[in-house]
Amino acid sequence: MELKKCARCGKFFASDVDVCHECEKKDLADLSKLKGFFADNYVVGVSKNEISSNTGISTRNLNRYLGYEEFSGIYIKDNNNDNEELANSKFSL
Ligand SMILES: [Zn+2]
Repeated sequence: MELKKCARCGKFFASDVDVCHECEKKDLADLSKLKGFFADNYVVGVSKNEISSNTGISTRNLNRYLGYEEFSGIYIKDNNNDNEELANSKFSL
């Protein structure tokens, strides 16, 4: 194990994961909200801002989660002014 800086609160900690022990719980809660959002409310072309306001997840954390392997098949645009590449996002749980 190495000493890492928590991706969520910035605290240093020793672990194999990206966030410290306290933030891990918050991450898990966020991730289940995010998965619930994708399962129930996902529409093609939804923006990160919209997901953030729907789930209460900060866009900073959202960007981190969307980089995870499990969300690699999904494309989320940064904001509503970006109309490119709306289509072909696929996601299944
Ligand atoms: Zn932390």
